[in-house]
Amino acid sequence: MSVEKYIKVSVLGATGMVGQNCLRLLENHPWFKVVDVAASERSSGKTYKDSVEGKWHMETDIPHDVSTLIVRDVHDFDSIPDDVTCVFSALDLDEKEETRNFEFGYAEKGYAVISTSSANRQTDDVPMIIPEINADHTNVIPIQQQNRDLPSSGFVAVKPNCSIQSYIVVLEALKQAGFPIDRAQVTTLQALSGAGYKALSNPDLQENVIPFIGGEEEKTEKEPLKIFGKVTSEGIIQSTDLIVNAVCTRVPVVDGHTAVVHIGFSDKVPSIDEFKSILSSFSAEPQSMNLPSAPNPPILVLDDIDRPQPRLDRDSGKGMAVTVGRIAKDTFFDIRFIGLSHNTVRGASGGAILVAELLVEKGFIS
Ligand code: NAP
Repeated sequence: MSVEKYIKVSVLGATGMVGQNCLRLLENHPWFKVVDVAASERSSGKTYKDSVEGKWHMETDIPHDVSTLIVRDVHDFDSIPDDVTCVFSALDLDEKEETRNFEFGYAEKGYAVISTSSANRQTDDVPMIIPEINADHTNVIPIQQQNRDLPSSGFVAVKPNCSIQSYIVVLEALKQAGFPIDRAQVTTLQALSGAGYKALSNPDLQENVIPFIGGEEEKTEKEPLKIFGKVTSEGIIQSTDLIVNAVCTRVPVVDGHTAVVHIGFSDKVPSIDEFKSILSSFSAEPQSMNLPSAPNPPILVLDDIDRPQPRLDRDSGKGMAVTVGRIAKDTFFDIRFIGLSHNTVRGASGGAILVAELLVEKGFIS
C-alpha cells in the first residue's frame, strides 16, 4: 500500500497500557497510520511525549511520528483530523454506559470504531470478533447500521476480554475438527498489566495473588457464548451448546495471561495425540487472507513439561499466538491443558488491530 493510501487512524486512550501497545504495534504497520491520539482531559493539550512522561511502559521508544502529536481530549469531536476513518478505542471510563454511548457517538460521525472496552461486548448488534473463530460476525454490521441509522462508514466492533484469549481458539480448533466441547472449567492467572498501567506500581499486587477480579468471571463465562453464537436479522444469538465456569485471579506477572482449562466433549473424545495434531494444524481466515498481524500458526503446542510460561512464551507469533502445553487426560473432565496469550497484545491492542485488518479485507473500512 502506498503512503497516500494508508488508512488514517486515531487511538483513543492512547496514554494507557492498551493504547501504548496499540501505538507500538501500529508503528510501521503496512495499512494503518496513526495521525491522532486522544485521552482524558488530564492529558489533553500536551504533546504525546509529555503526556506519557514517567508512564511509558513499552520496551521500545515512543513511535517518532506520534511523540509530537498533541493529545486531544476524547470528548472533543471537532478537532479530530478530517482524514481519519478508523478509531481504535482503548478507553477505561468509569461508567460502561458512558463508554457505550461514546463509542456510538464516534460511529454516528462516520468512524469505524474498534474497541477493547467491555462496554459494547454484550450489545446484540455489535460483533465481538476473534478473527480465527467468528469472522462471519462482521455480517451483523449492516444490521447495526440500519438499527441505529448510522452512516455507511460508521459502526462499532469489539474484541473480547483478554481472559478468554488463552483458550477459546483451542475450543474452535477442536469444534472444526469434529470434537465439539460442551463444558469447560477455566482458572485464569492474569497479569498485572491487565489492570492498566496503574497496577504495575500498586504495592498491593506485588508478591501476591488476588483471588478476585471484579466482573472478570462473568465475562469469561459469557463472552464465549456470543463468539460461538449466530448472526440473525435480530442481531447475534448466543450459543447454548457450551457452559463455561470460571475462576479468575490476578498474579504478579507483568504481561501474559495463563489459563488452566478442563474440558468435556459433547460426543467423542480425541486422543492426546489427535488433540495436539488438531491444534498444531489449525489455521483460519486471518491466515488464509494473510492479514499483517495474523500469527502463523495461530496455536503453538509445547511438549516440555514446564511450558507455557509467561516470560518465555507470551511473545510467540509477535504476541499474537496462543501457546498450549500440559495437555493430559483429566479425571473429572475429559482433557485438560494450560493456555497462554499476551494480554495486552493478542488480548487487547493486537487483537483489535487484527479485527481492523479483517474489516479492511472485508470492505468495511476503506
Ligand atoms: P489504562 O492503562 O488505565 O488506560 C486508560 C486510558 O483511558 C488512558 O488513556 C486514560 O487517559 C483514558 N481515560 C481514563 N479515564 C478517562 C476519562 N474519564 N475520559 C477520557 N479518557 C479517560 O487502561 P488499559 O489497561 O489500557 O485498558 C483500556 C481498555 O482496554 C479498558 O476498557 C480495558 O478494560 C480494556 N482491556 C484492557 C486489557 C489489558 O490487558 N490491559 C485487555 C483487554 C481489554 P489518561 O492517561 O489521560 O488518564
